[in-house]
Amino acid sequence: MALTGIQIFKLLPKTNCKECGVPTCLAFAMNLASGKAELDSCPYVSEEARAQLSEASAPPIRPFTIGKGVRKAATGGETVQYRHEKTFYSPTLLAAQVGSDIAAADLEAKLKAWNALQFERVGLNLRPELVAVKDVNGDAGAFAAVAKQVAETSEFNVILITEDAAVMKAGVDACGFKRPLMYAATEANADDFGAIAKDNDLPLAIKADSVDGLTALSEKLTGMGIKDLVLDPGSRDPKQSNQDMIGIRRAALKDGNRAVGFPTIAFPCEMASNIDVETMLAAMYIAKYGSIVVLSDFTGENVFPLLLERLNIFTDPQRPMTVTEGIYPINNPDENSRVLVTTNFALTYFIVSGEIEASKVPTWLLVKDSEGLSVLTAWAAGKFAGDDVGMFVKKCGIVDKIKNQEIVIPGYAAAIVGDVEEELPGWTITVGPREAAHIPGFLKA
Ligand code: SF4
Repeated sequence: MALTGIQIFKLLPKTNCKECGVPTCLAFAMNLASGKAELDSCPYVSEEARAQLSEASAPPIRPFTIGKGVRKAATGGETVQYRHEKTFYSPTLLAAQVGSDIAAADLEAKLKAWNALQFERVGLNLRPELVAVKDVNGDAGAFAAVAKQVAETSEFNVILITEDAAVMKAGVDACGFKRPLMYAATEANADDFGAIAKDNDLPLAIKADSVDGLTALSEKLTGMGIKDLVLDPGSRDPKQSNQDMIGIRRAALKDGNRAVGFPTIAFPCEMASNIDVETMLAAMYIAKYGSIVVLSDFTGENVFPLLLERLNIFTDPQRPMTVTEGIYPINNPDENSRVLVTTNFALTYFIVSGEIEASKVPTWLLVKDSEGLSVLTAWAAGKFAGDDVGMFVKKCGIVDKIKNQEIVIPGYAAAIVGDVEEELPGWTITVGPREAAHIPGFLKA
C-alpha cells in the first residue's frame, strides 16, 4: 500500500529548507503522496528513508516499455482515473493476432499489408505496434518460426501467446532480442513462466479468472522478482470485462493496491464474431482502460479510426495540439501559386490543409504560431494580430518562393487587413472564406 502524506512527512528531514520547490516538508510530503512530486527533488532524504519512500514515490501503475526498435512503446505510468484530472500518458498499444500455423508466405503478405497502415497526423506517424503470435497446436517449432519471422522481417514487436512453457521458451529463444511480451502466466504455469521472464528480462502478462485471482498471481510473481507485469482479468464478456478494467484502474489509483498497479491487456478478437464489433470493443478499451488491445486483423477501416481515437484520448487536455510554425507546400506549388495564412492549432491546420489538398490547387499554406489557438480565438486573444501576421510573412521565407506579393488571410480575421497592409506595403491582402469548406471553391475561382 502507498504511504499517506503524514507517514511520508515523518520520514523527511523536517527542516523546511524549501530546496524542493515548496515551502515546507509537509507540503512536499503531500505532493509526493498524490504523485505530484518526485522524491529526488529533496536532496536530504536519508538512504534509510529513501528505501521506505520508494514505494510511495513509485507511479501507481508501473511504467515500462514493450518491444525494441522504431515501434518500441511505453505502457503503464497512468496517474489519474479520468483524463480531465491531468492527462493519460501511454497510448493503448494495438496488436493483431496470427496463429502459429500460418504459412510463411501468408504471414509475409499480412506483415506487408499491416506495415502499410501508417497515417500522418499533427506531424505524428500513427501506426499499430504489435503482432500477437498465438500457439494453436502446441508445435513449438512452428510457434518459434512465426515469432522469428515477425521479429526479423517487420518493425512490429511481438506478443507470444501460449500457456505451454516449452512452447513459450522456443518463442522467446526465437525473438527475445525484440523484448516480446509473454502471455500468459496462470496459476498452473506461474513458476515456469516466471523463471523464463526473469531469465530473459521480459515483460510477462498474467491471466486469472477474476481480479482477486490476478492479485494473488501478481503478488506471487512480483515475489519472484518479476517487475514488468501486464494484467488480464480473464473475462471475455464485454460488460464484465469493462467493469474489471475500471475496477483495476480504481484499485491501483484510489486504493493504492500495488498488486494491480500494472498495465492491462484486452482481447476483442475473442469477444466478437466480426471485425466491426471487435473495433467497437477496442474503442471502448482505448477509452477505459486497456493498455494493450488485441484484434484479429488490421485493416484500414478498423485501424484508422482507432488510431485517431487513441490520438485524441492520449493528448494533454490542458495543452492544445499544435503544428510547427512554417511554410507548408500543398499540391506542389510554384512561384505563381497563392499563399494562405492560418494559425497553428492542429485542428485548424488539418481542416484547412485537407480542403486545400482536396481542391488540387497548388498552394502555399503559412502556419503562424498562435499558441495553439484557432483563428477566431487567436485573433480575439491578440495572438493573430495584423502586425504580427505581417512580420511573420516577411520573416518566414515565403518572399523567396513567390513572384506575386499577395496573401490570403482567413475570413474570421478580416479585421486585421489594415494592420497587415501597413506591415506589408505593396502586398495585396485578400480576405478568404470564413469556413474551410469554402476554400476549394475560393481557390478554383
Ligand atoms: Fe523538506 Fe527536503 Fe523540501 Fe527541504 S528539500 S523542504 S528538507 S522536503
